[in-house]
Amino acid sequence: MEVYVEKQKCTGCAHCFDVCPVAVFSMKNRSDPDVNSDVAPENDKWKGTHDQAVIDKWSNVQDGHKHFAENFEGGSGGISVGVNGPSCILCQACLVECEGECIVIKDDSNNIFRSIYK
Ligand code: SF4
Ligand code: SF4
Repeated sequence: MEVYVEKQKCTGCAHCFDVCPVAVFSMKNRSDPDVNSDVAPENDKWKGTHDQAVIDKWSNVQDGHKHFAENFEGGSGGISVGVNGPSCILCQACLVECEGECIVIKDDSNNIFRSIYK
């Protein structure tokens, strides 16, 4: 299994980090040198720019999680990185919790699963 985050869309809500039973995700500060250490393709790497549609949807939402913060602190903020994709058991818990709809999972038969926020 390969797991990556489309970085420009990640709000930093940390829902994926919270729900994944096998610790696929690691929350990083956006300035960390290993912020692009998952298998996200070049266009989906973090380069310092947020997706405008995701900002428009989430920047004013008050749900107890930080959105678009630079650093991970207090349980949210920063950015999610799929550091442990091979451990994914495709339980799909992260796929329905991802605010930015930015998690991509590819199984061993090259089937693609994408997050849709419920
Ligand atoms: S689908 Fe995979 S990455 Fe997502 S929560 Fe389940 S085990 Fe973790
Ligand atoms: S659930 Fe989605 S938006 Fe929230 S931190 Fe994880 S990848 Fe980013």
